[in-house]
Amino acid sequence: MEKMSNQHTRTDVILIGAGIMSATLGTMLKELAPDWNIKVFEKLERAGEESSHELNNAGTGHAALCELNYTSEKPDGSIDITKAININEQFQVSMQFWSHLVKSNLIRNPQEFIMPLPHMSMVQGESNVAFLKKRFEALSKNPLFKGMEFSEDPSKLAEWIPLIMQNRTENEPIAATKIDSGTDVNFGALTRMLFDHLERQGVEVNYKHSIQDLKRASDGSWEVKVHDIAGDKIEYHNAKFVFIGAGGGSLHLLQKSGIPEGKHIGGFPVSGIFMVCNNPEVIEQHHAKVYGKAKVGAPPMSVPHLDTRYIEGKKSLLFGPFAGFSPKFLKNGSMLDLVTSVKPNNVLTMLAAGAKEMSLTKYLVQQVMLSKEQRMEELREFIPDAKSEDWDLIVAGQRVQVIKDTEAGGKGTLQFGTEVVNAADGSIAALLGASPGASTAVHVMLEVIKKCFPQRIEEWESKIKEMIPSYGVRLMDHPELLEEVRTSTAEALELNKKQPVHN
Ligand SMILES: Cc1cc2nc3c(=O)[nH]c(=O)nc-3n(C[C@H](O)[C@H](O)[C@H](O)COP(=O)(O)OP(=O)(O)OC[C@H]3O[C@@H](n4cnc5c(N)ncnc54)[C@H](O)[C@@H]3O)c2cc1C
Repeated sequence: MEKMSNQHTRTDVILIGAGIMSATLGTMLKELAPDWNIKVFEKLERAGEESSHELNNAGTGHAALCELNYTSEKPDGSIDITKAININEQFQVSMQFWSHLVKSNLIRNPQEFIMPLPHMSMVQGESNVAFLKKRFEALSKNPLFKGMEFSEDPSKLAEWIPLIMQNRTENEPIAATKIDSGTDVNFGALTRMLFDHLERQGVEVNYKHSIQDLKRASDGSWEVKVHDIAGDKIEYHNAKFVFIGAGGGSLHLLQKSGIPEGKHIGGFPVSGIFMVCNNPEVIEQHHAKVYGKAKVGAPPMSVPHLDTRYIEGKKSLLFGPFAGFSPKFLKNGSMLDLVTSVKPNNVLTMLAAGAKEMSLTKYLVQQVMLSKEQRMEELREFIPDAKSEDWDLIVAGQRVQVIKDTEAGGKGTLQFGTEVVNAADGSIAALLGASPGASTAVHVMLEVIKKCFPQRIEEWESKIKEMIPSYGVRLMDHPELLEEVRTSTAEALELNKKQPVHN
């Protein structure tokens, strides 16, 4: 039986969960309002152990340089690059904020969390090659995508991606784009660095503390019920502002808050599996993130890609993610997560989604059932002579996609982006959804700040501009500022110093 504790504290801000989102919001708030008191509660033993952990996500600095699902073909055959532009602009915001932290000595050794790495898209078959060429033509005209190259020449491709091109026997046309300004980001390392920084700034980070309930107090603040797992006791803490940054755990906590904005929303978990290469000779032959095209019927987050990764100074090679179905909302979650997220107010939304997404559910269940050899066959579309003994399977993080009723999609529409849900008075906000995820954490947390502290924005604006020089403008429309931002972020994050590893 849990012991009750008489601990009952008051604070300005409570952040629930120690992933990249809380890390980013906490760091921003410490810069904007240094004298605010912040407490963090995390149910696991360390920061960044769920989706933000380096092996639980793909570590792609999503800037739409290679992800084909960010550009779609319009009915007239032209390519819509709106989404790609937005994501690229958002990633530039992250790069500027991280640079500010390094330049101000708040975090050090950027090479421990970000490395330059070419981003490539690769397709096969005549119609896919034609699509990629059109996409390249549309993007390469835009200053955000400067430096992108296209080739359908097998000898050029063999220079770019030797491992993928060697022993390729089929005669199908093949093409790729390449841009050298891509990055590999270790979001786990960055999350841990940010929490170390927050602790140095006096933020109280409580590990092994799980939030069980949230209630609005009569003075408008939030009372949070916390289970201190090690001490096996219950504590209560009050805060004027609460951020629910619990990743897959956010939906349940949002529901517990009872705010009307959190009603009629459901969650659909999609799990991930990577294949990781254990053969150093194979690892050495590849140096890029190469994104392919999603299979027909596959959700956009299961686009296969072959990625060089840098983890703790070591180069590795990952392929995936394979999607799958598990009813858990967190990797360390419960099999009851999906069932207990169904409430009277979202049951119709969930049922509508269930009926609409039968083919997705079927696809995910089929993905779970794949044998290692069947997964190797998918890998062989990238590396024709990949050997089974060189590759191991690892389980990645869970992504809970948002289900809600939308005008365009109707009742129970599955969303693939991230969503900030906040109370009208700005006293509580939750982050739901998973994509493009960690890469756009800074943009998304700025959205939380704008929605929850509108009365402070004017006062904070000059500090925000100091941290993010492009704040409030689109870099695409300001090529000189874009060049300046490119040069200064590359310098601060030491992206020019890191010589690419040659094969
Ligand atoms: C397979 C896969 C591939 C991905 N690839 C990429 C990629 O290439 N690039 C990219 O930018 N993004 C990627 N993402 C998305 C990215 O990982 C997430 O968007 C991001 O890590 C989410 O951060 P978070 O802080 O919201 O959640 P998390 O990192 O999951 O953190 C939430 C924290 O809250 C804690 N928590 C939960 N419930 C409670 C509770 N009740 N009380 C206390 N603590 C609680 C958890 O233990 C956890 O530590 C990928 C995700 C997956 C799963």
